[in-house]
Amino acid sequence: MHKHWLLFTALMLACTHAMGQTALGRPDVALTVIKAGKLIDGTSETARQNRLIFVRGERIERVTDDTAAIPAGAKVIDLSAATVLPGLIDAHTHIFLWGEDPAEGGYDANILKAGIALRAARATFACRRALEQGFTTLRDLETEGAGYGDVEIKEAIAEGTIPGPRLFAATRAISSTGGYNLEGYAPELQMPKGAQIVDGPVEARKAAREQLDHGADWIKVYMTHRSWVNKQGDLVSQPTLTTEELAAIVDEAHGWGKKVACHAYNGIGLQRALDGGCDSIEHGLEISDAQIAQMAKHGTWYCPTLAPYYYDWGPENSAAGKRDRKRAEVHGASVEKAVKAGIRIVYGTDMGGIKWTEPMAQEFPYLVQFGLKPMQAIRAATSTAAEMLGEKGELGVLAAGAYADIVAVAGDPLQDVKELAKVRFVMKGGTVFKNELDGK
Ligand SMILES: [Zn+2]
Repeated sequence: MHKHWLLFTALMLACTHAMGQTALGRPDVALTVIKAGKLIDGTSETARQNRLIFVRGERIERVTDDTAAIPAGAKVIDLSAATVLPGLIDAHTHIFLWGEDPAEGGYDANILKAGIALRAARATFACRRALEQGFTTLRDLETEGAGYGDVEIKEAIAEGTIPGPRLFAATRAISSTGGYNLEGYAPELQMPKGAQIVDGPVEARKAAREQLDHGADWIKVYMTHRSWVNKQGDLVSQPTLTTEELAAIVDEAHGWGKKVACHAYNGIGLQRALDGGCDSIEHGLEISDAQIAQMAKHGTWYCPTLAPYYYDWGPENSAAGKRDRKRAEVHGASVEKAVKAGIRIVYGTDMGGIKWTEPMAQEFPYLVQFGLKPMQAIRAATSTAAEMLGEKGELGVLAAGAYADIVAVAGDPLQDVKELAKVRFVMKGGTVFKNELDGK
């Protein structure tokens, strides 16, 4: 009896699973039809008017013009006065970081003052915040000392225990001795580090193996750490891992079918990142013409995360203030060069370094300021980011077969990208999470 019950449960589970895979075209699975006044599909050059999006199960069945018949019994969501877009992708977040405000203990307080349960609760809040702002996917680029917590938060989201975006987890990140916080404490103290510290290609490869073994979807690597302005007035960054160390990590990750994201500001560390085979450059504050050419040749992705470098500057005459101003100056110019060279730019905010109570759409105006057209900025947060994640056609696009991750704003983000800070409708995988536009 007990055995039969188990078998029955197993069969039910198998059926439910199969339904998710094959719901498209099956009349027995509930159909939702979204009426989109204006549709930005994530890949097209222009928006289209008056479209219908047929959603069955967790995916989009088809997108049509508004003459298509809506079957009786379909649930209709009326967004005919709104602009409808694919769910947004933030390719650089830290759900386990709770800001770095010096008045609240800075970065170090995240690790020294908060236990793992508090950090998990904050990560849960971060995930909800992201989803309610229309970010249905995050590439979360390391837990900052919270171990493999991101893999478990991802599991909690996937099993429906907590609301949140689809997570691509990078776990612990890798840097070298002298290459990551916590630092500045008495040398006698063994301080915890926000990243996994390695020295030498053997340790580097082993760290990558451990992280991949424990569920890392991406490997995050630090190729630069401290930065300052030298006597000549140039921005200088301390390099961390060597090209050989990085190459071992990249080789290992690629063998597992995974990619490597490299935090790199400029100079030697950025050059090692490119020579070592990095898949995406994070921040890339100052990229030389030769490095832009190398990125174009290699097909390297660029996630500039502009916004965090344009606020909270130190006092003008202080060393920190000079550094902050120099960073912003070279950063914008690098993005402009990259846009002209056709480098694939993806949307990233570095949320977590910024408090999760701040808006995540603040990167859009900066991308437009430095040369992306509004539609290109939207693609950076949809189809381009999806392609980097290996999810082309699945995420970041409103087309047949893609996941039904769908958001809407009341205004027109092609006229004003700041509209994207006011996401009023969010659907993830066919389930409505938020709807302030259609009263039904
Ligand atoms: Zn970051």
